[in-house]
Amino acid sequence: MTEQFELTEGGAVLMDGNRLRDEIVAELNAEITAAGGPEVCLATVLVGDDKPSRIYVRNKQRKAAEAAMLSRHVELGADAGQAEVEQAVGDLARDPGVHGILVQLPLPEGLDADAVLELIPPEKDVDGLTPRSMGRLVRGQRGHVPCTPLGVMRLLDRYGVAVSGRSAVVIGRSTLVGLPQVLLLGRKGVDATPTLAHSRTPGLQEVCRQADIVVAAAGMARLVTADFVKPGAAVIDVGISRTADGIVGDVDFETVQAVAGAVTPMPGGTGPMTIACLLQNTLAAARMLGAFPD
Ligand code: NAD
Repeated sequence: MTEQFELTEGGAVLMDGNRLRDEIVAELNAEITAAGGPEVCLATVLVGDDKPSRIYVRNKQRKAAEAAMLSRHVELGADAGQAEVEQAVGDLARDPGVHGILVQLPLPEGLDADAVLELIPPEKDVDGLTPRSMGRLVRGQRGHVPCTPLGVMRLLDRYGVAVSGRSAVVIGRSTLVGLPQVLLLGRKGVDATPTLAHSRTPGLQEVCRQADIVVAAAGMARLVTADFVKPGAAVIDVGISRTADGIVGDVDFETVQAVAGAVTPMPGGTGPMTIACLLQNTLAAARMLGAFPD
């Protein structure tokens, strides 16, 4: 029997990231428990006192514990220098008890994040953001894939959105989200035809309206309204903007859900999936390092 998905008021499939994250965390817990509970450890590094970053890191640790993983946390003050941050990350890189390393970005102004990320070995780069991981993604080699775009792919898959042969528009071209998203959608075996749209794309609305899948990762509150959406298209909201009304996504959920075939809520869509994929990458890292049975 085909699974019945929850629908929004407008009749779109609700791509519920909280639900899928919980399923993935439970699966990870079952897998680790069934293997006799070998230690799988995620290390997080937080520099400075950015409040949202602190919340993200805490959520990652909490979900790691639910997945039967260990977490290690290194916290440095906002006045930490480049050498101090590099020393901390280098120590984790050399520590055989640590399988995944996540440096919470952005780092405070004045610090060179690229130089810090360079210290993470590809096997432990569970955020998939280092040049070596990105190079592996481009070349189709085994490695860690950035968590947010990977979470988008998991949502499409879980909620039965057809991707092969479909057109997709990704709004945003950052190395964190937009670029890897385009690579993942266009990968052999996934086989969508992605378009990369950005702040200089003329006629964005028209471009989006041609697409079967829209992934919005611009960080512009409610940029994607119903006029951007082809009836029945899948619309995925990655953007997060802090406004006077609270946290708002790139997608105007109220109008879009009446036109789209499937849509993510915000919050509760791509955010929880980013954490779920981080934990999946951490287990994969333990495997790559020979600390977990294949
Ligand atoms: P970024 O600022 O590096 O990139 C934004 C991109 O959007 C740029 O490439 C820019 O060209 C494009 N853009 C900006 N305004 C646009 C417009 N009006 N029309 C078309 N394109 C436009 O940001 P990022 O790191 O890629 O993050 C994007 C958003 O996703 C942010 O809001 C961020 O907070 C959010 N984010 C969410 C998650 C999650 O888990 N849901 C994870 C990472 C980032």
